[in-house]
Amino acid sequence: MRLKDKVAIITGAASGIGLATARIFASEGARVVLADLDPARTEAARQAAAAAGAETLALRVDVTDRQSVEAMVSATLTQWGRIDCLVNNAGITKDARLVKMTEQQFDSVMSVNLKGVFNCTQAVAPTMIGQGSGVILIASSVVGLYGNFGQTNYAATKAGVIGFTKTWARELGPKGVRTVAVCPGFIATPILDTIPDAVMEKMVEKVPLGRLGQPEEIARVYAFLASDDASYINGAVIEVSGGIMM
Ligand code: NAP
Repeated sequence: MRLKDKVAIITGAASGIGLATARIFASEGARVVLADLDPARTEAARQAAAAAGAETLALRVDVTDRQSVEAMVSATLTQWGRIDCLVNNAGITKDARLVKMTEQQFDSVMSVNLKGVFNCTQAVAPTMIGQGSGVILIASSVVGLYGNFGQTNYAATKAGVIGFTKTWARELGPKGVRTVAVCPGFIATPILDTIPDAVMEKMVEKVPLGRLGQPEEIARVYAFLASDDASYINGAVIEVSGGIMM
């Protein structure tokens, strides 16, 4: 069990990659905080993760709301007294071409995908610095590396979190805290539901492995990065995409 007794907070844990990450962290022995918007879905996810025999906590958290994020950190510290890993996974899309994108579409994606990561990381950093250890993991995307049609807002946030990663790796590395970004390719989760089938087929054709990724294929990378097996990985941007862009 690579994560035995480590305390991990996973945002956006009620669905997709976050849910798979909660389950895999639990199966690796972690104590897992599942943080998401919808209380009923978050509790259902907690029960799924707890089935692996782990200690779990479900919290209703909005990563855009700093009070909500502070409450998440306080509840975690009250329960377990430490935070070993934060997985900044919560994310949304609001797609439109540049000429059609509304200010609301732009702002809401910035608010969750970029400021939410800032809010959560700033809230856990003092605890990790005090411990002299911790791991910050961040969901970027291949879209943050290469851009994507219709995703001005999303691509900017996913490139932006790479800037966070490099900066925090420098600021927090000397304090014993590692920061790593993961860039998934196209992974079969509800976030892809709005993409037309014809567009998805074209995407899959570009993947040398010939298929979408599964949420567990990202979750297992997070589990490795959160573990001591990854003790010298800091400031890295790791693409997990089946080789979609080469
Ligand atoms: P998903 O299935 O849609 O799950 C995202 C979760 O985040 C949902 O439960 C969502 O809740 C929650 N969330 C949204 N806004 C939130 C907020 N303000 N506070 C807390 N939680 C919030 O998406 P996914 O595919 O697993 O994606 C997870 C992460 O990986 C995202 O950052 C995404 O950008 C990134 N990623 C995904 C892919 C992919 O192909 N799937 C590729 C590259 C990167 P609601 O459902 O209630 O909104």
